[in-house]
Amino acid sequence: MRRLALALLVALAAPAAGAQTCTATDWMAVPLPGGGDLMETALETAYPGTDLDRPAGTFVTDDGRTVPYRGDRDVSPADRLDDATIGDMFVYPYPLAFDLSARRTPWFDPGRVRNDALMRALWFDDAAAARASLAVARYQGYSTSADFAVTSKRCVHAQLQAALDQIATHGAGMDKFLVPNGGTFNWRTISGTDRLSAHSFGIAVDFNTELGGYWRWSGAQPGNAAAYDNRYPPDLVQAMERYGFIWGGKWHHFDGMHFEYRPELILFARLLRG
Ligand SMILES: [Zn+2]
Repeated sequence: MRRLALALLVALAAPAAGAQTCTATDWMAVPLPGGGDLMETALETAYPGTDLDRPAGTFVTDDGRTVPYRGDRDVSPADRLDDATIGDMFVYPYPLAFDLSARRTPWFDPGRVRNDALMRALWFDDAAAARASLAVARYQGYSTSADFAVTSKRCVHAQLQAALDQIATHGAGMDKFLVPNGGTFNWRTISGTDRLSAHSFGIAVDFNTELGGYWRWSGAQPGNAAAYDNRYPPDLVQAMERYGFIWGGKWHHFDGMHFEYRPELILFARLLRG
């Protein structure tokens, strides 16, 4: 009996062939160096093994893919969104506080601005590879549960699992925000563009769409999406942010159900705060 228990323990501890051992990272607590280039520190800490060389104009991923680096441009907000450089991604600092006043500024959409080449290089270039990487994170709530299939690349599933576990500790009141699940992986371009949605990479989750609020559904026009009745609680949002998921509820063009794994923006905000 004792021998069997030991064998079981060994079997459980041994990782499956090719599987990645993941430990969730608390991005609000991870130590950050002082000084230096904040954008470089944020990107290289969020994605270990990568290298941003701004003078050389390159960002090299941990598996050796090179993406051109360009700084932020003096263009209209709509153009910035449309064809973003890496520098453009850092123009709107993500607010760490649960403060929805910054989003009243038209086009203040931290995280919605994405350099497509960077995202494809960090994550995936094709649907099959993205789909093959999916793993389930489960919200085990008070009276219900929900499964979210996200990528296991860079341990995103473990990050989401840690966030969901923390949300569940806040009690039965959380259930309605996560169930029904509003959608996770979906290889698609953003409507009207050839840029891939964050859902394509398996790094985005939508919680309950009924409670989330979405600017397009509200009939708002681009650059004028101010009225937003948020119902998502701070405990939920802060648990997601802690494990690297930014919230679309902080965007001018609000997407209150949408969370997206962008630890570089959490870290950049922490670095700016000093
Ligand atoms: Zn979404």
